[in-house]
Amino acid sequence: MNVTVQIERRNNEPPRPEWICPSCHQGARHSEVRANLMVCPHCDHHLRIGARERIQQLTDEGTFGELWTMVTTLDPLQFVDLESYPDRVREAQAKTGLGEAIVTGIASIDSTPCVLAVMDFGFMGGSMGSVVGEKLWRSAELASGEDLPLVAVCTSGGARMQEGILSLMQMAKTSCAVDLINEATSPFVTILADPCTGGVVASFATLADICVAEPGARLYFTGPRVIQQTTQEELPPGFSTAERNLELGHLDAVVPRRDLRVKVGNYLRLLGGGEEPDRGEGTEDGTGRSGRLAQAAAERARTLATYARRSFVRGDREAPGPPEEAPAREQSS
Ligand SMILES: [Zn+2]
Repeated sequence: MNVTVQIERRNNEPPRPEWICPSCHQGARHSEVRANLMVCPHCDHHLRIGARERIQQLTDEGTFGELWTMVTTLDPLQFVDLESYPDRVREAQAKTGLGEAIVTGIASIDSTPCVLAVMDFGFMGGSMGSVVGEKLWRSAELASGEDLPLVAVCTSGGARMQEGILSLMQMAKTSCAVDLINEATSPFVTILADPCTGGVVASFATLADICVAEPGARLYFTGPRVIQQTTQEELPPGFSTAERNLELGHLDAVVPRRDLRVKVGNYLRLLGGGEEPDRGEGTEDGTGRSGRLAQAAAERARTLATYARRSFVRGDREAPGPPEEAPAREQSS
């Protein structure tokens, strides 16, 4: 009986919304927010989304084929803070259902085939360690070899401190990967999502042919608080936001999430000369149109990567094999 009275009283209170926007504090139903691509229906605040959801939103249905899932990190520094590094990786894997902070594969965006690399902030803050560097490298290698565009969705807290200097090396490695794509004249487009910071924003994320960001995304190398403490100066309003970066010329566009698929598809067609790339599936020789330039660049870059790859990443592509085999440079003609 008492229970009945309590329920009646509760029913008189205004119903609590299922979901409250962290930005404008207005309520909405989960289904409404989800249908709006995880963007607040009231204030357009873009919520963080994981790699799987991003892929689902960005690509044409059923076109994503994941690659290099078996590439996993080693623990070269035997790093332990409160927990060991392998324990932290295992926890992140259990939490996100992902193998690493980046998911890579082949997909089609608005009917344009491409190689896609998507980072996930939920996996150890989207930090870039050896595996992120390696998978981005392989994506670039595939894109340049197959004459496909590369699209990368970047969200990251920066370098992975558990890998120390090796994670900083990934800035150089991924920058070389961009060089590889450039030499092969494959288009490269990056989408920066909140937050994109540190070593990722300071390497491949901002080296693309076209670099766009989602509204309100925070993009910076060093956090505002640290800058403020160091310089002892008040920072301007909107510091480090996508909109401010656009004003300063660091970005090409700020694109709302609902427009991303079509806009990126347009960019890829524009950069690809207005035609859909021919992946060579229907051609007689089956080799696609990978030009000599791309092959030469791929070979050179592969040589470069050999050293950085072997000791730090356990992968699925090659057995340990003979150490430091000499690159067959003379053979390429
Ligand atoms: Zn809102």
